[in-house]
Amino acid sequence: MPKTYSDKLREVKWQQKRLSILLRDGWKCRDCGNPNPELGLEVHHCYYLAGVHPGDHPDEAMLSLCHPCHQIRQPREQALHLVMAKILCATPITHIEAMFWLLLARCSELERGSS
Ligand SMILES: [Zn+2]
Repeated sequence: MPKTYSDKLREVKWQQKRLSILLRDGWKCRDCGNPNPELGLEVHHCYYLAGVHPGDHPDEAMLSLCHPCHQIRQPREQALHLVMAKILCATPITHIEAMFWLLLARCSELERGSS
């Protein structure tokens, strides 16, 4: 019988990955910065790779989030993924690439503190 997603989250492979992400993020929510363990830190997958075990995804695909932020982020990301898919289908790939690089450059500027 194939393992369910819940089965895989109980495996040592996932538990080790989860711990490494929580350590990387300093045991704080990456969205609100709250280190309060009473809010329950969870590890969120920003995306899934088809057929790949949850514990085998790259670290950059995951974020430590408190339970309230996880509840907020999950449906918003799903909505954004759908919008992105619609944009990808409706736009020439060269335009998508150009917009993507401009967006990344702008994000880098914002991270460096320029406005
Ligand atoms: Zn949070």
